[in-house]
Amino acid sequence: MLVSEPKDNAGYIKRDLTDMLKFRDKKSLTDLDLRNKRVLVRVDFNVPMNEHGNITDARRIRYTLPTIHYLLNENCRVILISHLGRPKGKVVDSLKMDTIYKRLKEYCPLSNIYLADECIGSSVEKMVKKLKAREILLLENPRFYPEERENDVDFAKGLARLADVYVTEAFATAHRRHASTYGVCDHIEEKGYGFLVEKEMKFISNCIAKPKRPLTVILGGKKVEDKLDVIKYLIGVADNILIGGGMAYTFLLAKGYSIGKSVRDLSKLEDVRQYMKNAEASCTRIYLPRDVVVCDELEYPSKIEQVPITEINENHVGVDLGDETIEVYKDILSKSQQVIWQGPLGVFERQEFEKGTKEIATHLIENKIYTIIGGGDSAAAFEKFGFQDDVSFISTGGGASLEVMKGTLLPGIECLSDK
Ligand code: AMP
Repeated sequence: MLVSEPKDNAGYIKRDLTDMLKFRDKKSLTDLDLRNKRVLVRVDFNVPMNEHGNITDARRIRYTLPTIHYLLNENCRVILISHLGRPKGKVVDSLKMDTIYKRLKEYCPLSNIYLADECIGSSVEKMVKKLKAREILLLENPRFYPEERENDVDFAKGLARLADVYVTEAFATAHRRHASTYGVCDHIEEKGYGFLVEKEMKFISNCIAKPKRPLTVILGGKKVEDKLDVIKYLIGVADNILIGGGMAYTFLLAKGYSIGKSVRDLSKLEDVRQYMKNAEASCTRIYLPRDVVVCDELEYPSKIEQVPITEINENHVGVDLGDETIEVYKDILSKSQQVIWQGPLGVFERQEFEKGTKEIATHLIENKIYTIIGGGDSAAAFEKFGFQDDVSFISTGGGASLEVMKGTLLPGIECLSDK
């Protein structure tokens, strides 16, 4: 397979990036005719909250403010819609938008902002009618309706009735074909992406299309399936792929090591073997941990130790990178010009198991290595360590950024107007 793919002089596979780069042909905010219009903005305010219902990381709200202010300056009536959590098509009180509404009011103290208790229907239409230029209406969680995820045509039409123009700022949800991220575009003429989506797409696509070499990709986290397509795509494109986190154990198992009670995905063993073989025949080197931190029990560990990968026994649960692996990975990263990081390298939420993720993050920052963090839990890790302002770019979308890295055009961007 690799033999037949076109390579450049340096031996890198020339991937067809036509799809991914099509976003450049779509209208951005500044291409849209917005003056005095009613604008429906699909944002992703699905922010993490603690057990008291307080927002623990409001970046997804803050990052959309430039677009909101731009629209207000254009004399628009701004209608915001976002999902929150997974209410599974039913009204869930804790997932109503009131907390988000309060935070939005703090961020936009000079604007009149209203909260609707529905997202479609006659009462919302009345509220939109009353809305004046430079005012904001936040709609209720569309995932309270099963029609949202089903991309129901009537539901999408109901949303479209509220506005003249559609703008997407929901990068983190742009890989979903839902009514408010995708279907609605069939019923609105003028639609484009906002400043946040533009920034996300430029950072990630540049890194894949014009990487500064060596390009090193760090892949961690628990779910192998999510990241396998990216590995497939990056073989022949990246110089190094460093594997860590829970997914490392499926790789180790595929190589014949015992992994004890560590997480694994048996359905992906064959794929993993195939990709490691493909990498060997390419310019990409895949690195696996040489040693790991293991414990007897993840929830209440009574014994935590470091072992080489040859000494993982049947009672061990692998939870973090070992010291030797951390040093090897740091050395590779020191020689890298560009780094993409998807997924934590251990169970970083627990202080006992955060070392690998924290040391690698510290190393990247101290050495000012250009790094793009692919959202999700890796972003949460940077936030936890207080590094969020020091890293080159943190994407707001875990799953969406993985999709872009695979070279696809996200459905939520594909459905926008061409320039
Ligand atoms: P993902 O959504 O696939 O990126 O997975 C993120 C989650 O992986 C985080 O909550 C981590 O705690 C978890 N994780 C990282 N390393 C391990 C591990 N060795 N075993 C189990 N879970 C892990």
